[in-house]
Amino acid sequence: MKKTPQPPTYYRKKEYTFGKILGNGTFGEVYECVRRKDKVHVAIKVIRKSLLNGDPTMVNKEINVMRNLHNENIVELYDYFESNDNYYLVFSLATGGELFERISQQGRFSEQDAVSVMRTVFTAVKFLHDHQVVHRDLKPENLLYKDTSADSPLVIADFGIAKTMRGDDDVLTTVCGSYGYVAPEIIRRKGYGKPVDMWSLGIITFTILCGYSPYYFCENAQEMLVVMERHEVNFDKRYWWGISEGAKEFIRALLHPDPQQRLTADQALHHHWLEGHTALDNDLL
Ligand code: ADP
Ligand code: MG
Repeated sequence: MKKTPQPPTYYRKKEYTFGKILGNGTFGEVYECVRRKDKVHVAIKVIRKSLLNGDPTMVNKEINVMRNLHNENIVELYDYFESNDNYYLVFSLATGGELFERISQQGRFSEQDAVSVMRTVFTAVKFLHDHQVVHRDLKPENLLYKDTSADSPLVIADFGIAKTMRGDDDVLTTVCGSYGYVAPEIIRRKGYGKPVDMWSLGIITFTILCGYSPYYFCENAQEMLVVMERHEVNFDKRYWWGISEGAKEFIRALLHPDPQQRLTADQALHHHWLEGHTALDNDLL
């Protein structure tokens, strides 16, 4: 009897030894793995076909965005394959954990530490925007430390809902992102573009400097929208008294409700605070 050949990709999983779980994703887990042929350690994101109702569109989008992005501060997509049950995306491994975990462990960052971390992230986002890619899900869970050292650089991960724009005038409309990091124009369903990433970076900068999120007191998205659009940023004196005016000005310029007036990645990189001129070496723990 003639044997039905397995799809070739079915065997590809055997090229890797699967190890511990690095993180949990929406559609599966991410594992630390070893590529058998050369013993290189990689991260493999497993995406369950059953959770996508068999529709590969989402995975294909992630692959298509990532295959053209090569930057030292963006996780690299090395390979992809599938089995009967799963899709597998093979990435460069970041061993230092999520920025989220470091905020939870160490609390707030000094301004100088925040500058050194955020400069890398803004530089990587400028690279994305120069390549017409909007990430749309920037948050501390998706920013990973390359290694476990205290001064490890960060890499941007999770291009699961990233989008390549057709040009600078392209207008995106899909409502997506993570609660607490989403720009007001997304909630308003007004159409949006690259500035939504700058909003998220404003929230992240705020959070690492004080240890809480700027709109934590809002009960729902509508309430949050009202506060966002008033351009009120909650620099509660109890936590912000020792933090420079430069830092606050920088955050306010990112959390501008009008996307046209919000700092671009390039402008942010030229801001005196992110250039390190006004950032204090404060240890407010
Ligand atoms: P999802 O789109 O479901 O959020 P992610 O791509 O964000 O999936 O992966 C989920 C988690 O897995 C991340 O938050 C991170 O903790 C971990 N992870 C993802 N990619 C890597 C990587 N290249 N190296 C190390 N850990 C990773
Ligand atoms: Mg994620």
